[in-house]
Amino acid sequence: MNRQERRGGRRLLRGLVLGLVAAALCGAALVAVVSMDFGRLAPGSCSWGFGGGRGGGTGEAGELLESPNFEASPAAARDLRSGVVDERLVSALLEVTEEHRICVDAFKEGHYFLPGVTDGPFIPDGYGEAGGLPNTHYHGRAADIRRVDGKPVRGNGSDSEVLGVGEVLTRIAPDQRPDQTIGPPDWTETLGRSREEGWVLDEDQLDLHEAHLHLGYRSNSGTNNTR
Ligand SMILES: [Zn+2]
Repeated sequence: MNRQERRGGRRLLRGLVLGLVAAALCGAALVAVVSMDFGRLAPGSCSWGFGGGRGGGTGEAGELLESPNFEASPAAARDLRSGVVDERLVSALLEVTEEHRICVDAFKEGHYFLPGVTDGPFIPDGYGEAGGLPNTHYHGRAADIRRVDGKPVRGNGSDSEVLGVGEVLTRIAPDQRPDQTIGPPDWTETLGRSREEGWVLDEDQLDLHEAHLHLGYRSNSGTNNTR
């Protein structure tokens, strides 16, 4: 082996080691992001087109699935096709898609609050102060929006388009508007909406929603909104 070959060998080895270190760091970062992101599916699970948001479903759910402004994870699209999603929620999302392109990654199927804890009728203990309260996702009365107009909700709570989703909601009549709207702290603060309008303002909940907007209906009929 001449000197040049030895040098080439060393360079290859160094490249391999660096590659392994980089892969390990990326893996750790990914684990950190996923584990912080309670209640969420894997990032990037929303897709528009085959297997995702397009086609199937009847009535307004079908309309939503056909909207070019609507993206969904395969699980969320299946929920819409099966008819498990509350009609008021479908209508509210249709309103939002009139102005914004949104990606919903979870209604009922595949939603979870804590890693390793399967969803049931009630929010599990350990999920902030909401533990023990009814789980609106389980009943098909909640949607999680992960991206708005191509931007992730995480880190963009005060972006005008992400804020725009909240503004559309405020224009929906109180008896049809979600009464369990939760988003990142800066999103909530900038919009400045009240509990009476359906916004959840508890700090622990805002901290758990840094990466998505949650639109939910607390009960099967009617809402708690008074304005
Ligand atoms: Zn949610």
